[in-house]
Parts: sequence; structure tokens; C-alpha cells
Amino acid sequence: MALEPCTEIPNQINTDLPVLKERGQREVFCGLTGIVWLHRKMQDAFFLVVGSRTCAHLIQSAAGVMIFAEPRFGTAILGERDLAGLADANEELDRVVDQLLERRPDIGTLFLVGSCPSEVIKLDLAKASERLNQRFFPKVRILNYSGSGIETTFTQGEDACLGSMVPVLPRSEDEPNLMVVGSLADVVEDQFQRLFDKMGIPVSFFPPRRAANLPSIGKGTKLLLAQPFLSDTVRSLIARGATLLPSPYPFGIEGTTAWLKTAADAWNVERDRFEDAIAPAVNRAKISLERYRQTLTGRKAFLFPDSQLEIPLARFLSRECGMELVEVGTPYIDRMLMDSEINLLPVGTAISEGQDVEKQLDRCREARPDITVCGLGLANPLEAEGMATKWSIELVFSPIHGYDQAADLAELFARPLERRRRLTV
Ligand code: SF4
Repeated sequence: MALEPCTEIPNQINTDLPVLKERGQREVFCGLTGIVWLHRKMQDAFFLVVGSRTCAHLIQSAAGVMIFAEPRFGTAILGERDLAGLADANEELDRVVDQLLERRPDIGTLFLVGSCPSEVIKLDLAKASERLNQRFFPKVRILNYSGSGIETTFTQGEDACLGSMVPVLPRSEDEPNLMVVGSLADVVEDQFQRLFDKMGIPVSFFPPRRAANLPSIGKGTKLLLAQPFLSDTVRSLIARGATLLPSPYPFGIEGTTAWLKTAADAWNVERDRFEDAIAPAVNRAKISLERYRQTLTGRKAFLFPDSQLEIPLARFLSRECGMELVEVGTPYIDRMLMDSEINLLPVGTAISEGQDVEKQLDRCREARPDITVCGLGLANPLEAEGMATKWSIELVFSPIHGYDQAADLAELFARPLERRRRLTV
């Protein structure tokens, strides 16, 4: 592979990229899904879903998470007295929280997570957490956010969760510090920590491994995003004095190098020191990526809008794996967070924003891509039609950031192609 570490990112935006905007029926999971990876990341946090039977099924069955989600809000929280119409919902919520915190003294932060049933929307969870904080803080901090599926995509659950923590981040002095924003698998966080240490950059990670150990924020804080779906969180962090370092995302060798270089430039790290820090990992990644590049080169990819990772992944598939992009769908485009990535897509890439699922399926069937990246609901019918698919949700659950995961990321796309090849043979 002839790829060199990318240290020069063009600063002219590709404004002539065609963006097809669609506002039709969508097929995505809701923000509750974020609990699946967030509960793993913050080990002293607990996510109390205030929701319906559907919400409980999503969390307990589809996601396989042991979580305190009752089958229905009314039945679960209001109990028998509610049947006679006597109970006050807030009292019942307090009772459930009491029971939970008594049973689980290890909980340091409790998130009350709202959902979309109308009974839940009527309940003011912000006031409820304020009231509960008066009783339980500082032993337990109670925060709230909405994981509702109305007009959101599933990764926005993380955005809402992190956003709920921004107001309680401690204020730092104004000395320069780097904050990496977006949840990363611990193993990846450790790899990045080592690379930043080699470059002498003081770094904190948000969210932290323990919700009680919140990083501090101030005018010297520079933000480097690890995930591209944190629009609201970033704006709240900027409102608290931080500065955003716009950058491609750390997917693949090129993306990871560009991402680290953005931080290195902000800290005036010398070129030799930077190259020395990344060289061993880049060389390892090149060797392991090559194998999958051979499988992927020249194959056609079609990405449906789902995780909000689509544009950075398309850049990786095209520039590092040699794939041809038929269409890159994404739920929404936040130019502040995405321009550095859009800039790296091949000129003429068909991007679509939003979804009109039937029309998009027609385009996909007509193009007959080698691989289609989409949500679970679309994957099975497309597989039945003989098309290879990759579940986009798997890309959020798997450790795919950084050099040592570049080959794993490529393998996630190569595996369905290989499976399809074997089935065809
Ligand atoms: Fe369904 Fe809404 Fe509950 Fe999500 S929050 S599982 S979309 S009812």
C-alpha cells in the first residue's frame, strides 16, 4: 500500500459535492441504544430508563443489557395504586430511585433516561433529578437526558448523555489542556494516552471511565472529537470556554494520523517528535491493513444513513481500502464537525442527508453494490435478495478507532464479502 501518513489536510471545502436531502420515512434505532456502550464505559453510572414495554425490550433483549427498565411507565413506576388513579408519578419515581440506590450502593451517577411515550414526556425529568439531587448528592449525582426516538438517530443518545454532564464539569484554570470527546473502548483510550504522552500533550477523556472523575474545562481546553455525532455536546463545551480543533476522525491510518497531527500542531510538537511517536504504530497498521485492502479494492459500497459515522467510514473505505462509493447516506450533516471529512471524499461522491427509505432502497437495488452498510431492519431483506450487508450498529459497538484497530475496521467490511463469496461458490 502506498499510503503515507497524512499530515497535510486541505483547507478548502469541497462545496461542489452533490448532497441529496431527503425527508421521508426513516429506519433507525432510537437514542436509548447508546446505553449499550455508555454503561460499559462509565462503570459507576446507572441508566434508569423511564419508558414503555418497547423501550424495555430494546434495552434488555436487543441490546442484552441488564438494566432497570420496567415494562410500562405506568405499571412499572406507579404500581398498584396507580390503577386506582391515586398515585403521583413523581412520588413513584422517587420510590423506585430509593429502592435502586439502597440495593446498589456502588452507583455514583444515576442517569434518568426519558423516552418517547406520551406519559413519559409529560413527566419533567429535569425537575425530578433536581429534587433527587437534593437528597442524594454528593454521594450520588442524578442527571437526566432523553433517549427518545422522535427525530433522532441512535448515536444522538450519547450526545444527549454527554451533554447532560457538561454543566457539572469542574472549571479548570486557563492553562492549555486537550480533551478528547466521545466514548472510546478502554483499550483504544490507553493507546491514545500513550501516543499523547510521547508527544508531551496533557490529555483528558470525556466521558471518563468513572462518571465521578469528570475532566475539568476552561478557556485553555481544546476539544478533539473522537466521534462525529456530538453536535450538542460540543456546542455546550464551547459555551463553557473550550475551543474546537476541527479534524478528520481517527478511523484508519490516515484519519488517525490527521487527528493526532491536529493536536500536535495545536501544541507545536516538532515534526520529528510527532513522526517518531506514531511510526511504530503506523508501520504495524500498514502491514495488517494490506490483507483486507486486497479484498476490498475495487468493490462498491453503499452506505445507508444510520450511525452518523458514514462519512468518515466512507473516507476510510475509499482512500485506504480502494473501494468505490456508490452513495454515502448520513442522518444529518453538521458542517462544523464534518467539513474536514467531506473534504477528503473523492470529488463527485454522492452524499445523501436524511432518508426516504423506499427511494433509497430502489437506488441501492439498482446499483447492486458489493456491500451495503445499513441498520438491522434493512439488512435482512437485502441479504434475502442476495446482497452482502454490514450492520452499521456493529461499527459503533466495536473498537474501530486508532492505528491498531485499522485492520479490524477493514475486516468488518471484508468479512461479509467473503461470506457472500463462499455462499455463492
Ligand atoms: Fe421505542 Fe421511543 Fe422507547 Fe425508543 S424511546 S424504544 S423509539 S418507545
